[in-house]
Amino acid sequence: TAIVSLFSNASSAVLTRQVPSVPSVLRGDSVGHMHQEIAKSFAEDADHGSFFVAELSSVVRQHKRWLQFLPEIRPFYAIKCNSDPCVLRLLAGLGANFDCASLAEINMAITALGPSYQDTDGSTQSQRIIFASPCKFNSDIRGAAKRGIRMSTFDNMDELDKIAQYYPSSQLVLRILADDSRSHWPLGRKFGAHLAVVPTLLKKAKELDLNVIGISFHVGSGCSEPHIFADSIMRARRAFDIGKEVGYEFTLLDIGGGFEDKLMLNTNINLFEENARVIKDAILQYFPLTDRPEGFEIIGEPGRFYVTKAFTLATNIIARRVPIQGIDFVQPDIPLSVYLNDGTYGGLNNVLLDHRIAIPFVIAMGQSFDIPDEEKEPASIWGPTLDSVDCVNTWTIVPRGLNIGDWLGFTDMGAYTLCGVTKFNGFDASRVLYTTGTGIDGEEVWQILGKNFK
Ligand code: PLP
Repeated sequence: TAIVSLFSNASSAVLTRQVPSVPSVLRGDSVGHMHQEIAKSFAEDADHGSFFVAELSSVVRQHKRWLQFLPEIRPFYAIKCNSDPCVLRLLAGLGANFDCASLAEINMAITALGPSYQDTDGSTQSQRIIFASPCKFNSDIRGAAKRGIRMSTFDNMDELDKIAQYYPSSQLVLRILADDSRSHWPLGRKFGAHLAVVPTLLKKAKELDLNVIGISFHVGSGCSEPHIFADSIMRARRAFDIGKEVGYEFTLLDIGGGFEDKLMLNTNINLFEENARVIKDAILQYFPLTDRPEGFEIIGEPGRFYVTKAFTLATNIIARRVPIQGIDFVQPDIPLSVYLNDGTYGGLNNVLLDHRIAIPFVIAMGQSFDIPDEEKEPASIWGPTLDSVDCVNTWTIVPRGLNIGDWLGFTDMGAYTLCGVTKFNGFDASRVLYTTGTGIDGEEVWQILGKNFK
């Protein structure tokens, strides 16, 4: 109720939307101000008050950067990364498309596209969705067929049989194996056909009279080496040529996801911008403008690039353990262990699943937002469950004097966090509060979401 009253008392306007399942969005508020207001409103009882703040203008900024640096490549946002309904609606309004891993995600994409999904002439915008799972449930294939979602990926013989049986008019995209050795989430162990098996797969597709329209790859999530993209595009060129030998004229190149927005190690060069530069060069080299089939297009499936920075998690200290001098040997080098109301079974599951090093910042200490900077001490940080893998950080530096009721925040919490939350020990997921964010991009959020809900 504290959050509800904060929203109804807020000086900034609240967008009231027509869709009841979607929460309110604050207009023009900064993330820092929201943290403080909500922390204040929980002053007495913060136990259940961990919350994400989604700053939606950040998604707009990332979309604009994608269009600026990769103008030729249509983005299909990977819903698996963060399926927050406001993010999806915003992306639909911005003109982005969707990469879905299941029928449930396809339904989310269709909901996000809203009325714009169904054109007045009865046709749909089904080409704004790709079903990018090479190993699909039969029921999901039938569901995609019912909804007219034609584009989907495959990388094995059995999937071709399933498609021939349940959705023979699919537009298939063959996912080939990429070098994923420089990604922190390699995917090649599970998905992607080696070039050596591509002729066999395509011959079988031809025998089944299936429509294969192109080639995709995924370099693995969080790829730190731009030249891996160039190498994958070269492999895709080879697969296009094999397709020709088998009798296909491919028109789609899908360069997958794996993009990160950060500086490259020991440089001032942004990894995303460098990836974009290398990708553009490789596309011109292997798919020159003069040698492209009619209707040729390139798509990408970015996930974390779009949402990582948009979400911050605010947590509250619910308990502490301070070793009793001389007799407590649990962690002799750590003078303080703090326990938060969210942890690695909840919003901070990226510590376990995404190899994230979670370094907190302090939002409030002793109900004050003036954080003393002089004295620091080491601490370990834990989640609320009774499992010891629920450790957010085994050793980090915090201001001296952290206590129960104080607030710690974590930035860059938008990717692969909310989607992995469990109910372990009965704890609920941290709720999500939204701000449009400030400036022109924040106003654009306001315009898009407002229009979408009228
Ligand atoms: N496309 C596919 C098929 C994926 O499996 C993934 C992530 O696992 C993505 C796109 C998104 O990757 P990322 O978040 O690294 O951009």
